[in-house]
Amino acid sequence: MRIERVADGVHLVTGTNVNWALVAEGDAVTVVDAGYPNDGSDLLASLEAIGRAPEDVQAVLLTHAHLDHMGGIPSLLAKHHVPVLTGATEVAHARRDYEEQITPVQMLRQCTHVAGITWFAQTLKAVLPHARMSVPSAAPVPFGETLDLPGSPVAVSTPGHTSGHTAYVLEAAGIVFTGDALVTAHPLLPGPPRPQLLPDVFSEDEREMVSSLRALAELPADVVVPGHGPVVRGDLDEIVRGVTAGR
Ligand SMILES: [Zn+2]
Repeated sequence: MRIERVADGVHLVTGTNVNWALVAEGDAVTVVDAGYPNDGSDLLASLEAIGRAPEDVQAVLLTHAHLDHMGGIPSLLAKHHVPVLTGATEVAHARRDYEEQITPVQMLRQCTHVAGITWFAQTLKAVLPHARMSVPSAAPVPFGETLDLPGSPVAVSTPGHTSGHTAYVLEAAGIVFTGDALVTAHPLLPGPPRPQLLPDVFSEDEREMVSSLRALAELPADVVVPGHGPVVRGDLDEIVRGVTAGR
């Protein structure tokens, strides 16, 4: 686990090839995403590392219900029950009324090079034995409204990676949590970190992802905290144009 301060009260935590974020205001904390199932103990440790406890968490904002983003939630709920909020469509995904996730066969097909084999092994270890988990208590978050939570986040509908993918913006701080709608690195992406989309195999609808990127470009933010890879700072419109060029 690695913790990086992004801004006052805002921390990016990197677990097993995936990020989550902690937004503290006074004692209270908003958690954005939660890592893999096996990152659950690190999620709790990250709260402790910034001087907070599970009881200080007001809500978990989930970008989407893939196992690498919601896996740590049960570990937190076991300590302290908090609301888990995400876009209305993604709520059904978090409850596993339906599933949009890379299949074991698709995962195996990534094992054609060393990076793919390493990723496959790390992912299996991070997921098992909780690959069938769900979050039955997930509830819908309204889009476009300032939420009464630490950081005053606003949920933004960003479908494509999953049907109900949801980003969150902290308007006053100029920070957007893009989840997997926009990432900067991943073990299966070649080259140095840069704003980009995840490989196709992870996403439901790439055309919809590109439309969602254009929605992200409109947001009042100049700090991107992605679901995978390092933070990127700069003009959001320019960052998005770099990713959508040629698409
Ligand atoms: Zn992811």
